[in-house]
Amino acid sequence: MSEFKPNPNASKILATLAQVYAEDGPALEYQSVFQLLVAVMLSAQTNDNQVNKITRQLFVDYGTPQALAQLSVPELEAKIQTCGLYKNKAKNIAATCRLLLDEYGGEVPHTREELVRLPGVGRKTANVVLSVGFGLPALAVDTHIFRVAHRLGFSQGKTPDAVEADLCRLIPEADWAKAHHWFIWHGRRVCDARRPNCQECPLKHLCPQLL
Ligand code: SF4
Repeated sequence: MSEFKPNPNASKILATLAQVYAEDGPALEYQSVFQLLVAVMLSAQTNDNQVNKITRQLFVDYGTPQALAQLSVPELEAKIQTCGLYKNKAKNIAATCRLLLDEYGGEVPHTREELVRLPGVGRKTANVVLSVGFGLPALAVDTHIFRVAHRLGFSQGKTPDAVEADLCRLIPEADWAKAHHWFIWHGRRVCDARRPNCQECPLKHLCPQLL
């Protein structure tokens, strides 16, 4: 059994984050769960602003699996080539569209087991689709959440899955989707990977890094 003792101020931290980031939701732009899925697939190793630039064009004509499946992989590559790993992403998105059309009537499935069957979709992407897209209880852990959870003493997990399990124990289920955004925005705006702005951090009196 782990000896890890989570930060006893966890509930105060969550209340502060809820207040500070009350107005901040997803940075990715989308009009449907399918578009959210594609945007999250494009976002691996690419920042959300870059993804939005791509999808604002792409989704005008290709915002459904039916439409996107009309593109060949090289055509899709050309449309997303400003994002990292675009060849792999194009291959996976094209294959995902085909699977959605062949097996799910063009709808995005809403269980984790089905989502992770889609090419290029791992647990993190599946959790974003479940929580942000469908409002189901899931908590996706990305690089910001992983780092902030460690610094705040919410987890010492060595993998995203372990951090997810710790966060799900500490955060009430009704707040999982919101907490996903709180931690991401806090990591982006204040608790930067290299230069955390501890002096201006609203959590500085509760953070184990400064206590
Ligand atoms: S006090 Fe510093 S390390 Fe702690 S959460 Fe704030 S920015 Fe991050």
